[in-house]
Amino acid sequence: MSTNKELMQRRSNAVPRGVGQIHPIFAARAENCRVWDVEGREYLDFAGGIAVLNTGHLHPQVVRAVEEQLKKLSHTCFQVLAYEPYLELCEILNQKVPGDFPKKTLLVSTGSEAVENAVKIARAATKRNGTIAFTGAYHGRTHYTLSLTGKVAPYSAGMGLMPGHVYRALFPCALHGVSDDDAIASIHRIFKNDAAPEDIAAIVIEPVQGEGGFYATSPAFMQRLRDLCDEHGIMLIADEVQSGAGRTGTFFAMEQMGVAADITTFAKSIAGGFPLAGVTGRAEVMDAIAPGGLGGTYAGSPIACAASLAVIKVFEQEDLLQKAKAVGNTLREGLLAIAEKHREIGDVRGLGAMIAIELFEDGDSHKPNAALTAQIVARARDKGLILLSCGPYYNVLRILVPLTVEPVQIQQGLDIIAACFDEATQ
Ligand code: PMP
Repeated sequence: MSTNKELMQRRSNAVPRGVGQIHPIFAARAENCRVWDVEGREYLDFAGGIAVLNTGHLHPQVVRAVEEQLKKLSHTCFQVLAYEPYLELCEILNQKVPGDFPKKTLLVSTGSEAVENAVKIARAATKRNGTIAFTGAYHGRTHYTLSLTGKVAPYSAGMGLMPGHVYRALFPCALHGVSDDDAIASIHRIFKNDAAPEDIAAIVIEPVQGEGGFYATSPAFMQRLRDLCDEHGIMLIADEVQSGAGRTGTFFAMEQMGVAADITTFAKSIAGGFPLAGVTGRAEVMDAIAPGGLGGTYAGSPIACAASLAVIKVFEQEDLLQKAKAVGNTLREGLLAIAEKHREIGDVRGLGAMIAIELFEDGDSHKPNAALTAQIVARARDKGLILLSCGPYYNVLRILVPLTVEPVQIQQGLDIIAACFDEATQ
C-alpha cells in the first residue's frame, strides 16, 4: 500500500507544480459525504470537490444511470451522431433556467468552456466585443476566462497579459465598503472612460461569488444591472457554475434575484461528479452562431448527460432544494454560535447552503487573517474534516457539503470547526 507521503513525492516529480493541491492526501474511495484516503483514514467531506457533489459522492441513482448508459454507448460525438440524453437534458434545462422566454441549451464539459462559449454567443448576438466583469470574479482558467477572472495571482501570474477588451467593474460588497451604488457607478465609469456601452457585448456576473469569497449580490443590484443591460442592449450573463444546481436553495441562484439573465452558465454539481457544463439562453441569442461554431468532441458526453438527468431526478425525489435551505440554516446557526466565542470570525454569510465565514485579525475587516484560515483548514483535516478556503485574501472558509449530508454529520463537522478555533486561538 502506498502512503500519502510517497504519492505526494511521486506527484511532485510527475505533475507540474502549477497544479496546486489543498490537502496532501490521495483519495482512494468515497461515499456520499465521506472519503477514505489511501492509508484507510476516513474524512468528512465539506468541500464536495469544489461544489461538484451537491448529491454526494457516487449517489446510487447517478451510478445506476451511468452504468445503464455504459451498456448502450459512451461516445459518438453529438455533432456526428446525436443521442437522446443530450436532448432531454437541454429540454429540462430550458425549463429550469430562470427567464420567461424561449430558451436553448448548449452542452460542453467544463465551467471555463461554458463561460467562453457564453461570451462567444453574446459577441455574435450583439456584434460587439467588449465584456464587463467584476472584481473578485472567478470564471475559469482558459485565456479569455482568465481575463474575466478578477485575481491575477495565482491564476494568471507569470503568463503575461490575457486577451483584451475586458473591463473591470466593482463587485458590490458592503462588508468591504463597496455599496450597490459604488458598483453601478463603476460601470458608468467604464462607459465614460474605457468603452462605450454600444461596444459592450456582455456583463458577466456570479450571482453569488464563489472563489471570490461567497458574497451574494442583492436582488436590488441585479435589477439595476438588468436595467442597465436593457438600456444598452448588453447581454447579462449569470455564471452559475458554482452557485447553480441547487446549492443556494433554488436550482439557480438567479431565481432569488427577481430578474433573469439572457445567458446562464452551469457546470459542477449539475452532473454529480461527471464532466458536464453548459450554456442556456434566449433562443434567438443562442442561435446567433452559425452551424459548426459551437461544440466539441466530448461536449455533452452521453455518460455525463445520463448522470445529470439522474442528478435532477434525485433533487426532486429527495427534496434537495428544501434540504439545501435546512442545511444552510443549521450551518449558519452553528457557525454563528462559534463566531460568538471567536471575534476573529468577522462575518457568517451565504445563500442557502453556500455558506462561509470570513476571518479577520482582531475582528477588523481591514485585516484579513489568511494565516488563521490556513491553520483551521489544516487542523480540521487532522481531525478528519475536509474544508476549503477562498476569497481574494484567502481568509474565507467556505462550506460546500453534499446536500445529502446526515444531520449528525453536519454537527460532527461543526464540532470539529469549533474545536479547531478553540485550539488555534487559545
Ligand atoms: N465559473 C465559476 C463561477 C466557477 O466557480 C468555476 C470553477 N471554480 C468556473 C467558472 C470554472 O469551471 P471549471 O473549473 O469547470 O472550468
